Amino acid sequence: ESRVNRKLTTIADVRKTLQKRNPFAHKGTYGKGLIVGGSEFMPGSVTMTVMAALRTGAGLCTVATEKAAIPSIAANCLEAMYKDRAGIPEMDLSDFDGIAMGPGMGQDKTAGELVNNLFRGAECPLVIDADALQHAKEMLHAGVRKGRATLLTPHPGEMARLLDIEIGELLANPFSYSARFAEQTGSYVLLKGKHTIVTAPDGRQSVNNTGNAGLAKGGTGDVLTGIVLALAMQQDDPFEALRCACHIHGLSADIQVESAHSEHDLLATDVVKGIGAVYRKLL
Ligand code: AMP
Ligand code: MG
Repeated sequence: ESRVNRKLTTIADVRKTLQKRNPFAHKGTYGKGLIVGGSEFMPGSVTMTVMAALRTGAGLCTVATEKAAIPSIAANCLEAMYKDRAGIPEMDLSDFDGIAMGPGMGQDKTAGELVNNLFRGAECPLVIDADALQHAKEMLHAGVRKGRATLLTPHPGEMARLLDIEIGELLANPFSYSARFAEQTGSYVLLKGKHTIVTAPDGRQSVNNTGNAGLAKGGTGDVLTGIVLALAMQQDDPFEALRCACHIHGLSADIQVESAHSEHDLLATDVVKGIGAVYRKLL
């Protein structure tokens, strides 16, 4: 594979792209985010997504989920607002500066209809992860969102399904598959793994090498989605937002493993808690 345009993300890159906090900021300054996900029997994932978005600096977050899931999510995240996802088709999406969908949302028909609605309706940056990727597959290939920022965060299994190829085939040529898919769909692609690859539709690519095997555990991807949403609302270039997000996510895991935890016991919630230490190191 050719190596044009491809570079490693460093802590200096992240420092350069992070926005300073304005002393006169109010809660609207750093973005109103909508997170669509979670369901009655999977309330945890979206809880971690919203906590990560808030920890990363989002001003206000609303979670739209199944009504039955709201009490348990709300009990674990006091800082967010909550909506029944059945109300999404009537919601004014222009109230939001960024939308993330997918974690724990389920693969049922209702979830698919919501993804369809948001994919077509959202003018703001849209982060698509987990179950929402499969629901969005055909619309992505049809180029429905061309001209609007669309950020995808698949793991290799999800990416292979989007491409209709085997995982092994994808992992043998991850740069070229990512580049072709990003260009054809007009979307920004973050392909997760030990070395996460970020690709812009214009061909820019970068590799991230923070993170450790402690991240190989359920829920860590949901945390990344929240970090991505917060940074996509604060940074104009989705490519830079994605590069910063995976760097911060991995660095949080690395700092936790150097200090309080090990790769054995690290949990996704520890990665959320570690975001504070990352910012202290970065700023
Ligand atoms: P998901 O599969 O959606 O839960 O996402 C898993 C997250 O953990 C991604 O951000 C991966 O890059 C990260 N991750 C998983 N395994 C490793 C590993 N062995 N080394 C570094 N990062 C990892
Ligand atoms: Mg995931």
